[in-house]
Amino acid sequence: MTFAISIDIGGTNTKIGLVDQSGKIHDRRQFSTWEGNSKNAFFQNLFSNIDLIIPDGNSSNIKGIGVDAPSCIPNQGIIKAAANLPIKGEVQIVDLLAHNFKLPVFLCNDANAAALGEGKFGNAKGMKNFVVVTLGTGLGAGIIVNGKMLTGQSGLSGEMGHITAIRNGRQCGCGRKGCLETYISATGIKRNYLAQLAESNSETSLANLALNELTAKKIGMAAKKGDENAIKAFEHGAKIFGQHLADFVHLFEPEAIILAGGVAQVGELLFVPTINALFENLLPNYIDNVKVLPSALGENEAALLGASTLVFQDL
Ligand SMILES: [Zn+2]
Repeated sequence: MTFAISIDIGGTNTKIGLVDQSGKIHDRRQFSTWEGNSKNAFFQNLFSNIDLIIPDGNSSNIKGIGVDAPSCIPNQGIIKAAANLPIKGEVQIVDLLAHNFKLPVFLCNDANAAALGEGKFGNAKGMKNFVVVTLGTGLGAGIIVNGKMLTGQSGLSGEMGHITAIRNGRQCGCGRKGCLETYISATGIKRNYLAQLAESNSETSLANLALNELTAKKIGMAAKKGDENAIKAFEHGAKIFGQHLADFVHLFEPEAIILAGGVAQVGELLFVPTINALFENLLPNYIDNVKVLPSALGENEAALLGASTLVFQDL
């Protein structure tokens, strides 16, 4: 049996999988992307975890390494200006991994990897036109048009998190203002919640948490228990999100929009207001032609599996 080492570098955790061609994950590792809070610590953790996942330390059955990350330029093999990673400046990640592990290395954007995973193994299997939106620390989109990944000239297309949602709105980690991911993503939900709390008189079940303990997941759990401020945090983000998804549908006419990543795990609280805002903003001809679906691949698994398909694509 042959394997791919699959690496999904995320703004919170970095996941590593030993994956076969059928999409079965035989072994997995995970570490906090920010452990050690430096570029050097990140690469030390990455390399030691890759060493651990190579069966018996023998890489003869491994065809290559597929890696996905936010803020990468696939055609140049680099991660550059990553707002949500402890990697500042520019890193030649493809050369670095290839040199250390003597394996071919393939790089793609994290949301594009999720789209590859959903298309091959998930809810978009068999579809030729779909969009996968990953709602994690940030927000990204992978767009498949006529059965092909829309890459743009250097692999940068689909940076949906940084389209301007509100002109001169919230400060974004990218340096600009009003980006979509400042309203809908794990960090966006947290900001919605804090903004909601500031102007609300109602009780909240999360009042005892320190700011650094507050997460989108905890806000989601509070919302499910009926916490009004938490519910509004999702509704506010979902409304802005749905409006922009309508723009995407008008541009690409996908069969489905798949919502993946940690924030999508909250389910109805996100899906219902998103779908409502989407359909309110669609032209009539599009309304019966598009579905909004959850990922079928578990939390953040889509990208890990998608990165493995980069390795097997030429076999
Ligand atoms: Zn931005």
